[in-house]
Amino acid sequence: MLNSTVVGRIDVTPELMILRVRPDDGVPNFIPGQYVALGMLGGTPRYPGAAPEPEAPGPEKLIKRAYSIGSSPEQRDYLEFYIAVVPTGVLTSRLATVKEGGRVFCQPKVTGTFTLDGVPPGKNLVLVSTGTGLAPFMSMVRTSSTWGSNRRVTVIHGVRYPEDFAYSYELRTLETSTQGLEYLPIASRAAETWSGRKGRVQRLFDDGTVKLNPEMDHVFLCGNPAMIEELEVSLATQGFQVHSKKSPGNLHVEKYW
Ligand SMILES: Cc1cc2nc3c(=O)[nH]c(=O)nc-3n(C[C@H](O)[C@H](O)[C@H](O)COP(=O)(O)OP(=O)(O)OC[C@H]3O[C@@H](n4cnc5c(N)ncnc54)[C@H](O)[C@@H]3O)c2cc1C
Repeated sequence: MLNSTVVGRIDVTPELMILRVRPDDGVPNFIPGQYVALGMLGGTPRYPGAAPEPEAPGPEKLIKRAYSIGSSPEQRDYLEFYIAVVPTGVLTSRLATVKEGGRVFCQPKVTGTFTLDGVPPGKNLVLVSTGTGLAPFMSMVRTSSTWGSNRRVTVIHGVRYPEDFAYSYELRTLETSTQGLEYLPIASRAAETWSGRKGRVQRLFDDGTVKLNPEMDHVFLCGNPAMIEELEVSLATQGFQVHSKKSPGNLHVEKYW
């Protein structure tokens, strides 16, 4: 069942990790924005200090959860994931113990419709994330087909503390080297002395930092469901419609729970 090897691990903070996973059968084809299931066996020890879990799974049970792929499909050596360790979490309290060289399950089938497929080439992208909801957007900005046709791409990343800004170095570097990319990090619980943007991602729309045009922009929302529900309501009043296969729109959403 454990069909993949962890080939890289970066601990952003004790609660946030980047895992690079190499499936034995090779990296599957996928579209930026899609996800796979990762899994571990119930018998895997949880990290020391994990909060009690609702119900302990059987030792042979494969615990699986969905994770957005953060790497580009052009990266053929591994799939990258950006994962929050939930102290009460059944899977992440076990995934937190995995080291480089460790084995995990990675579902060969890739799924998901939170992609740029429904976005015409000339339209701008406003990619709004909280926490690990940044992962699918990393895959998008790391992929060459996202760029072109003078498209503007705004990446908004909302976190609690400034140390939670994983990928900020890469995004700032990309911002300098890529025409049309704007990176807007914002922290809701930053210290008074912190000089960056403070507040929730919603603030950037309320105070006019991000100005939207429903004719030109496609907005993507990913991460915490409370942020998504709140923005869905306010964006609906500005002419944004939730996208689905049956009814194409300019507002795309991926709730993590
Ligand atoms: C399509 C999809 C893609 C996802 N991609 C990612 C991803 O790229 N990275 C990621 O970290 N998670 C992602 N998730 C969430 C992930 O599937 C798990 O729910 C999460 O890792 C918790 O699993 P667990 O077994 O440890 O917790 P469980 O025991 O299943 O507890 C679930 C609870 O954990 C909390 N929770 C879930 N996800 C998060 C999170 N990301 N940050 C903080 N708290 C959370 C919520 O309170 C939720 O009710 C995704 C979910 C979906 C549906």
